[in-house]
Amino acid sequence: MARSGNLDRPPDILLGHTVRSPRPAMYARLEDLTFANSFVDTLPGDPVRENQRRQVLEAAYSRVEPTPVAAPRLLALSSEAARLIDLDAETLDPVAFAEVMGGNRVTEAMRPYAACYGGHQFGSWAGQLGDGRAITLGEAVNGRGERWELQLKGAGPTPYSRRADGRAVLRSSVREFLCSEAMHHLGVPTTRALCLVGTGEKVVRDMFYDGHPQYEPGAVVCRMAPSFLRFGNFELPASRGDLDLLRALTEYAVERHFPHLGPVTPDSVCAWLAEVGRRTAEMVVHWMRVGFVHGVMNTDNMSVLGLTIDYGPYGWLEGYDPNWTPNTTDAQGRRYCFGAQPQVALWNLARFAEALAPLVGSVEPVQEALGAYADTFEPAQRAMFAAKLGLADWQDGDGELVEALLRSLLQVETDMTIFYRGLADVPIAADADDDARLAPIADAWYVEPSPAARGAQAAWLRVWAERVRADGRPDALRRAEMNRTNPKYVLRNYLAQLAIDAAEAGDPSRIGETLDVMRRPYDEQPGRDEYAAKRPEWARHRPGCSMLSCSS
Ligand code: AMP
Ligand code: MG
Repeated sequence: MARSGNLDRPPDILLGHTVRSPRPAMYARLEDLTFANSFVDTLPGDPVRENQRRQVLEAAYSRVEPTPVAAPRLLALSSEAARLIDLDAETLDPVAFAEVMGGNRVTEAMRPYAACYGGHQFGSWAGQLGDGRAITLGEAVNGRGERWELQLKGAGPTPYSRRADGRAVLRSSVREFLCSEAMHHLGVPTTRALCLVGTGEKVVRDMFYDGHPQYEPGAVVCRMAPSFLRFGNFELPASRGDLDLLRALTEYAVERHFPHLGPVTPDSVCAWLAEVGRRTAEMVVHWMRVGFVHGVMNTDNMSVLGLTIDYGPYGWLEGYDPNWTPNTTDAQGRRYCFGAQPQVALWNLARFAEALAPLVGSVEPVQEALGAYADTFEPAQRAMFAAKLGLADWQDGDGELVEALLRSLLQVETDMTIFYRGLADVPIAADADDDARLAPIADAWYVEPSPAARGAQAAWLRVWAERVRADGRPDALRRAEMNRTNPKYVLRNYLAQLAIDAAEAGDPSRIGETLDVMRRPYDEQPGRDEYAAKRPEWARHRPGCSMLSCSS
């Protein structure tokens, strides 16, 4: 008999609850975790072991150890990320933990390496890039058998460091730590951040590349992801005509991370490309939903798992403006501004598709697979706007409603997050007057609107209210749904900066406090209104709040 079990009892599925596996054991020390090293065990590595900058051929990675730092100190820890690898944030010893996470000690089970990849930067092929300051320690395997790569960013030079120092400054590390976790709690696919360690060392940076280098405190972030493979890992061997390495990487990626696609064949490579396209589309729709601007969508910063990766000069829309980019390096071309992200993602996917094409052999199926991006993006974007506007579903004519809204938001500088959150509270009754409708969103205005702009927003709210009434749904239900889509708390640029200012002055506690607010971005959190407030005037032009450079 194929089935066994207690015949007196119906299967759990019929009892209407899922079977929960017992809570996995939790550990206090990294040494107690199980580590695997499939990347280095499966893929060809660089035979040269000297840690010197160079071109690395026919290898997916170089083995390299982190460079120890003067005084590693644990500044922040994500208990949720720790739980993913069965690490108990409550009982771990911060001193021993910071030694490993600062790069001063590698446990016996870890086989650290830096990955070799290339990429298109700002539209041009840049050749070999690679992990110039990131070192993957290994894959922590949790009690459920899931693997999480642990990667230190800022852990010292590697063969891929080119002319830079392999280090990271505290400000950019605080930003990466907080935003990774904030994005996760918002429901956006992302790499995670386990912890932030201060190095006790200074790093020299010329923040705006204007001849004013300064000493800044250094830090290391430990990031986590099932894989850090990027489009660029595939582009580099393809650009070199190294089909053996391209195939080995593709087999590794598909077998490990997309096992349902079966063995690597021309068909499954196309199916994989389509799936990466679908995941990328979903990720970008989330970015557009929450007002996130990645800032440097080079192909080396695009994950094949469809995760938001490499938090550098990213930013959050304050006043709604599709042309806004946080990245000073991008201020001229605005290639990576908010509104361009959907197009850029497709451009990047096309570069990824070109890299995979030699494994397929003909162009048409690759082109067709690339179509999965738009096929996913368009309906997902419609569903996203319907949810943000509190519509039961997307109907003909709703496109005009959205376009009219986006036009009206441009007439007066309007905080995107506060506007959408306030929209749930706008009365929809036919006899409500304009003042009553405008009241819940008035706080979103950065300046007093002109009578014309005020009129335009009121007119739009009238049309929107009528559309919502036509759905005939209970108000409370609609508002609860809107509040699950439109966050109240996002990692506003100035909020990250306030945590950085305090940390640089010696008090890291605001990092943990900010993370705590970002844990529940859709909930009202009484007493924490300051974290939902629109950008104060002092932050409008302050570096770190309104503009960021790649210098980090
Ligand atoms: P990013 O703009 O952060 O995606 O980085 C682009 C490339 O520059 C990657 O290969 C990075 O590893 C490398 N890189 C950035 N900053 C540093 C640094 N401080 N030291 C070494 N390599 C770096
Ligand atoms: Mg990068």
